[in-house]
Order: sequence, then C-alpha cells, then structure tokens
Amino acid sequence: MNPHHHALFIGGRWVAPASDGRITVLGASTEAVLGSVPDGSEKDMDAAVAAARAAFDDPDGWAAWEPARRADALYCLAEALERRVEDITRVVSAQNGMTIGLAQQVEGALPAILLRYYADLIRNDPGEAVREGMLGAPVHVRREPLGVVAAIVPWNAPQLLSATKYAPGLAAGCTFVLKPSPETVLDSVLFAEAVEEAGLPPGVVNVVPAGREVGAYLVSHPHIDKVAFTGSTAAGRQIAATCGTLLRPVTLELGGKSAAVILDDVDLGTAIGEPFVQATLLANGQACFASTRILAPRSRYDEVVDAVSSLVGDLTVGDPLDPTTQIGPMASARQRERVEGYIEKGRAEGARLVVGGSRPDAEKGYYVTPTVFADVDNAQTIAREEIFGPVLSVIPYTDEDDAVRIANDSEYGLGGTVWTNDDERGMRVARRMHTGTVGLNHYTVDPAAPFGGVKSSGLGREFGPEALLNYQQVKSIYT
Ligand code: NAD
Repeated sequence: MNPHHHALFIGGRWVAPASDGRITVLGASTEAVLGSVPDGSEKDMDAAVAAARAAFDDPDGWAAWEPARRADALYCLAEALERRVEDITRVVSAQNGMTIGLAQQVEGALPAILLRYYADLIRNDPGEAVREGMLGAPVHVRREPLGVVAAIVPWNAPQLLSATKYAPGLAAGCTFVLKPSPETVLDSVLFAEAVEEAGLPPGVVNVVPAGREVGAYLVSHPHIDKVAFTGSTAAGRQIAATCGTLLRPVTLELGGKSAAVILDDVDLGTAIGEPFVQATLLANGQACFASTRILAPRSRYDEVVDAVSSLVGDLTVGDPLDPTTQIGPMASARQRERVEGYIEKGRAEGARLVVGGSRPDAEKGYYVTPTVFADVDNAQTIAREEIFGPVLSVIPYTDEDDAVRIANDSEYGLGGTVWTNDDERGMRVARRMHTGTVGLNHYTVDPAAPFGGVKSSGLGREFGPEALLNYQQVKSIYT
C-alpha cells in the first residue's frame, strides 16, 4: 500500500485536488510519518457535492433503484471492505492508537455488519403504506430518501462512525460526501477504494479529507440536504447553529461524561474486571460513551477505590499493534496535552491521585499512564468535562437516590453503566438515568438498538431501524 495519495475520490473517479495542500498523518505510537493525502479545499467540496447531487437527482439513479438492488450493492460494498479489513484495521490502529484487537471488531467487522443489517431492513420494504384516512379516503404514506448527506466524522473510530451514517443513508437512497478527520485520513482512502471496487454508481459516495473550516463550508453548502455529525459538543453546537439557520435536518453524536454506578450489593471481584475496563477505558479512554465517573457507595468506598485502581494499575500499556496491549497511546500530541492538562487540573483542585498521572517509559508515542483519582467531587472540572483519555474519577455517594442524582448531574447524557448483583435493582436505576444508553454490568453497543445522547451529548439516534428515519422524509399523498 502506497501511503502517499495524490487524488480525491469524487464522482466515482480519482481526481486531482484543486489545491496542493497536504494532510500528513503521524503514527500515534511512533510519531513517524505514516502517510499523506490531499487536503480538500472548498473547490473540492463543491465538486463532491455536485457529484453527489447529480447522482441523487438522476431519475433512474441510486435513489430511484428498487430497494433490493440497493441492498445487493450494499452487500458488494460489505465484501469489498472485508477484502481490505486487515489493512484498514492496521492503519486505523497505527493512526489513532486503538488496540488492534478492538480495531478488528469496531473498525474491521462492524461496518460490514451494518451494511448487511440495513440492506436486509430495506430489501423488501416497499417504503409506502396505504392508511385508512379519517375523511373516508385512503392516504398513501411514503418514506422518501432525504437527499445529499454531508457526513463528518472524528478520529476515534473513523470507519465505524462513517458506517453508522452511510449504511442506513445509502440503504434509504441518499448519496454522500464524507469528510474524515485529519488525524485519520489514510483509512478513508481504503474505504473509497472499496466503494470503487463495489461498483456503486459514480457520485453516490464521495470522500474528501479536510480540516474544520472546509467541514463548516460543507455543512452550509446550498446543495446539502442533511448533515450527519459525530464529534465534539463545541463543534456540534456550531453545526447545529448553521443547520438551524438553514432549517437543515441534522443528527449530532457528541461528547459524554457518563457514570458507572456501583451499587452497594455488588460483588467487586466479579464486577471490576474486563467488562469494567471495556465500559470505562475503551479505546484508551477515547470513547464518547466511556463511564469515566465511577460512583461508589460511601459504605464501600475504599474497597471500590482499591479494586478500580488495582485493575487500572495492572493494565498493559504499549504498542497498539501488539495484541497483548490493553491501553495504547493517545491519537495525537494535542490529545495527550489535553489529557495531561486535565490530570494537572485534578491535582490542583484537590482530587487524590491513586494510580497513573504520568507518562510511561516509552521513547516515542503519545502515551499517558492510565490514571485513577479518588475523593473527587462531582463539581470538580475532571468530573464535569470530557477528558477523552484514560482518566477515571471515583466519586462517593450516600444512597441510591444520591447515586442517581450525581449520575444525572452532568451537562452530558450519552452512556452509563450500573454494576450490581441484583438485575431488578439495576434496571430500576438504569431507568432513572437521564442518558441515551445504559449498560448493566457491561457496556456493549448493539447495532440493532438505537444509540445516541440527550442534553449536550447530541440530537437523534444512530443504529437500529430508527437510524433509517434520519435519512428519509415522510410524504402523505391524499387520494
Ligand atoms: P471535533 O469536533 O474536533 O472534530 C470532529 C470532526 O468534525 C472532524 O472531522 C473535524 O474536522 C470536523 N469539524 C470540527 N469543527 C467543525 C465545524 N465547525 N464544522 C464542520 N466540521 C467540523 O472532534 P474530535 O476531537 O475529532 O473527536 C472527539 C469528540 O467526538 C469527542 O468529544 C467525542 O465524545 C466525540 N464523539 C462522539 C461520539 C458519539 O457517538 N456521540 C462518538 C465518537 C466521538
């Protein structure tokens, strides 16, 4: 694989970019150049949007195809991705530090699973139903594709977070301009190659790596019909403001500060193990839904702090491409600085550092040692702001009501977990949490179930049949 690319995938072809700017990606564990791509400009976005527009507006094109024909094409794309799965997972892992085993599941397997899931959902769906009207005449209610979608994704799970948009969107009949994040552009080239090999009609999927200014230009482009965004809450607010002015449909998957509620009946020996690491420190803590506020009952506070810090202190930190590694590096120097800034803040505001808080011995790579703070007050900065790194805060609570109150006392509401031996009690607490998703004794996102946030964690849902509605509009025809 040549890591230096000189063309953009627009209109089903590899075309020369309009400017000579480049995006160069450094390895998260090596700090060495991994490769580069053209830095997409506004002119490139114009070309990509025009190609997507033409593909959508073609009266015999993608949007007009029978659902079964689109479903077959999505199966072809799933196969083309699977043929590249090894390259994709290695390059994602090298770019953003995600451990290779996780990359195989999340970035390798899930996109193809989602493509087949949405292909199967629409294959036999007529998209139209006749409803008995209240005025004595039947009404035809149709679900039509929304149009041209701008999909903007972050670097922490670039393939999956692209697929959560294009899989339902393509199934619905939309066409796409995908803008990956500058930190993870090399895998987007492999995705574009898969689209080409799968034989999707020209312009149905266009890929333009670019920075945030060009992303903002894409959001406001007059020929975009819908924006699907995953990223920070700050960027999400700007995008929402633009879409509000334009009355443009938008889905926003944003940041989180989720709580792990450890109930006082829990068997800590069982609960605080591998599933707890997955729920709290997945992707080196660079996961939007990570339960990084650990709520511990005062009656067992020291026990919880000991269990969590010995689990976290024993994690193997190292090269993300080594299958024995449990925690890899941060994705970039900027991200490590951000995480270290929060560790400093935690110390300065009086939280007790129990493990971590430093850099491990490594000559290269943006590593941060997994860190646990105890005696954290939910009002402190490290309990309120999204750190997006391997830093956990253990916060004491008095009783179940207090635990729910603290869990809900957050600007965010994306994930959350409850740890208990009593399923009924766990369900009771889960139902009271103001958040889009909750896991009982584990946290594993299920593609068949809607995923998303409340409050500052976003608007709308991805995954599940619900996500198809993000890419459809409903029309009534009165007869
Ligand atoms: P970011 O918001 O800085 O960037 C995300 C993407 O948006 C990038 O492609 C970037 O170039 C682009 N962008 C930034 N500002 C923009 C603007 N004003 N207009 C258009 N495009 C813009 O986020 P990041 O640092 O890359 O990713 C980390 C964030 O993503 C975290 O806050 C994390 O919680 C969030 N995230 C959320 C989910 C979810 O499903 N809710 C999943 C993963 C990550």
